[in-house]
Order: sequence, then structure tokens, then C-alpha cells
Amino acid sequence: MHYQTIVIGIGSMGAATTYYLAQQGVKVLGLEQFSIVHENGSHAGQSRIIRKAYAEHPDYVPLLRKAYENWAKFEQITGQTFFNNTGLAYFGLPNAPFIHGVKTSAKEHQIPIQAYVQQEGRVKFPWFNIPNEYEVVWEPEAGYVTPERTIASFAQQAQKAGAILHENEIVQDWQLKGTQIEVTTNKATYTAEKLIITAGAYAPQLLSNFEKPLQITRQLLAWIQPLEPIDLSALPCWVFEIPGVDGIYYGFPEVKAPWLSEDSAQVSGFKIAHHTRGQVLTNDQLSFAADEAYIIQEKENLQKFSHTYFPALNGEFLAIKQCLYTYAPDEHFMIDYLPNTDRRVVVATGFSGHGFKFVPAIGEVLANLAMDNTETDELVDFLRLKRFQK
Ligand SMILES: Cc1cc2nc3c(=O)[nH]c(=O)nc-3n(C[C@H](O)[C@H](O)[C@H](O)COP(=O)(O)OP(=O)(O)OC[C@H]3O[C@@H](n4cnc5c(N)ncnc54)[C@H](O)[C@@H]3O)c2cc1C
Repeated sequence: MHYQTIVIGIGSMGAATTYYLAQQGVKVLGLEQFSIVHENGSHAGQSRIIRKAYAEHPDYVPLLRKAYENWAKFEQITGQTFFNNTGLAYFGLPNAPFIHGVKTSAKEHQIPIQAYVQQEGRVKFPWFNIPNEYEVVWEPEAGYVTPERTIASFAQQAQKAGAILHENEIVQDWQLKGTQIEVTTNKATYTAEKLIITAGAYAPQLLSNFEKPLQITRQLLAWIQPLEPIDLSALPCWVFEIPGVDGIYYGFPEVKAPWLSEDSAQVSGFKIAHHTRGQVLTNDQLSFAADEAYIIQEKENLQKFSHTYFPALNGEFLAIKQCLYTYAPDEHFMIDYLPNTDRRVVVATGFSGHGFKFVPAIGEVLANLAMDNTETDELVDFLRLKRFQK
């Protein structure tokens, strides 16, 4: 019952963290309240965009380079494909905030992008109705990664390297007890020298003394049948930034997901979503389904978008799924030792709807933080909690 390190939450960040710990020979226990891969957290939905010219802030780029490197290494180790290099087309006004952010990061870090005027964009991306005043920015090194498959593989490889992972075991409490940390679940009590909390949208329940407010929102994802036949192989990932509309609309080519065939998550069609703050939830609403009124409102929102900007994508809704965002106050990740824990408890939270692409980098960083290995500290310095003390 005693471990060097316990990881709470074996979802996106936690599964990768147990892998990087076990790789270093650390005796690690991972505790997951549901099954490993489920639909009550932040990782369901087949695909997540990965991009390097980071609109949110150029400081993420070194961490992204680490992520790209680790995705490639993990693909080599497992012989599986997680990263699908489809490229990404951004559509919007040349100086719109997101597009401007992409160009700023690309320039600062020499990331290849290409800008097209509207007429050129229409030739290259014929499915989209691009307004005359829009620019199209093309990022060839972007694409999508596959969350369920990634988490299952990290968990599997972690176990192969010696990690012990328990599913369907809820952590109810943790406490510092002298030189040890005591973790109590609905099934047992464990002790460890170090603790890592990667509990996603459920983190606030385990961080009662944490003064930084996290906001949890419900986000909907839709799969739509196109009205016209579309050449699936040619469609990239895409982002639309519309003046006067909060956030961005984004979508994916159809994902052929044979590894999901036994799973309820298997749906075909084009996935589309609106990245903006969804329905704000309280802790006790997290694993409940979205109400009908919210689903209708979101369907209308996506239909209105498709009708104007992606007319071929105005067919039948094949599926709607929900997923949870955990917003940090400034929408940037929060990765650090938890205050007043003598660097024995590491927390990774506030991924604010854009964390998945970083999974293999964050996993390595968290393992290093717990093991007091400073090798990757610089990559996350800008994400430390000290930024809130200014
Ligand atoms: C709709 C949607 C679209 C997104 N699109 C993108 C995208 O295109 N690109 C991108 O990079 N990112 C995207 N993201 C964000 C990304 O998926 C998240 O940032 C990431 O999955 C967060 O990982 P996590 O480990 O914090 O949470 P999770 O993957 O949810 O893992 C947390 C785990 O902790 C477990 N847990 C919590 N409390 C306990 C407890 N008490 N005991 C035991 N276990 C516990 C949970 O059950 C869960 O499995 C998207 C997110 C959503 C919801």
C-alpha cells in the first residue's frame, strides 16, 4: 500500500504521467474513478487538434516542440499512429486575435505557415464559403491526435513498465501526514512520498485549499453528415474566426476509428464544434447529460455556422456528445507544486479546452517535477502559479 508516487486521475495527463514515471523505474500507483477512457471527463470525442503556431501565446511553442518530439517517440515505441498530419487551415480577418496569434507565434519561432488571399483560399479549400475580406493561413505541420487511443496506450505502456493502475476507484481525500502523503479512496488507504493531481474537471473537489478559482463548462461536439459527397482524403482540420462572434468554430476530417469499433464512442461524419465558454457547471452536475434546451441551442448555432461558411456540411446531425473544459482564470494551464506542500504535491489543471495536444510533454514534465528533476522546468515556467502573485 506504499508507493513512491500516486497519480490521481488516469485521463489525458495522468495516463501519460504514470508512463513517464514508470519508465524511470518509479513505483507508481494511478487511481481512476471511472474506467480508463470514459465519457464523463475532458477526453472523449475521437480527435483533438494539434498545432504549433500557437495562437494562445508564443511561450507554449517550446513545450509544443517537446510534445511533437514525444508523440513521435511514443508512436515508435507502440507502433501505432496517434498524430494525423492533415494540416490546418485558419480562416478569418488578417488581424483577428486568433489569426494574429498564429502569425505572431509562427514568426517568433520560425514555424512554417502560408497566407493566402480569399481567391486563392477558395481554390485550395473549395468546401468553404470564404468571405472576400478573409485571409486563409495554412499550417502544414498541424493536424489531429486521437485521445481515447492515446490514453489507453499510455496506460497500457505504463503498466508494462511496472505502474499499478486501479480503475473505478474514487479518491475521496488526501492529506500530508509527516513525511508521507495519505490518500483515501472508496476502497482503501494508500501512502506515498509524492502526489500528482491530474483530475481534470473534478480537480476542484480535491483542491479545497486552492485559492485560484477554476470554472468548469459543458461543451458539445457534433458529428454531421455532409449534404454533398466530400473528398475525405483532401479535407484538412480547420478553424473559423468570425468577427463579432466569441471564440472559434473548428472541425476535422472524418476519422476512421477502427480501434473504437467496439466502443460507444464510434461515430462517423464530420466533427464540428464551437470553442467558447459553454454551460457553467457546479461540481455535482459534472457527470450528468446535457439538457435538451442546451443541445437544441448548440445545434442551431452550428447549423447557422455551417449554412453560411460550410454549406456542404448542413446535413443530418449523426451524434452529439459532451465534454468538460476546466478554465483557469487566464485560460493558461496551471502546472506547479501545490503551495504549502513542501514540493511534494504537484498539480496540473486549468487546461482551458486546449490541453490535449500537449499530453506527452506534460506527462514527462509532471514526472520530472515529482522526481525533482529540473530538466524540463523551463518549458513550464510561464505556467507556474507565481504568475497570479503579480
Ligand atoms: C469538447 C472538447 C474539445 C477539445 N478540443 C481540443 C483540441 O482540439 N485540442 C487540444 O489540444 N485540446 C482540446 N481539448 C482539451 C483537452 O481535451 C483537455 O485539456 C484534456 O483532455 C484535459 O486533460 P485532463 O487530464 O486534465 O482531464 P481528463 O482527461 O478528464 O482526466 C482527468 C481524470 O481524472 C479522473 N478523476 C477526477 N477526480 C478523480 C478522483 N477523485 N478519483 C479518481 N479519479 C479522478 C477523471 O475521471 C478523469 O479520468 C478539448 C476538450 C473538450 C472537452
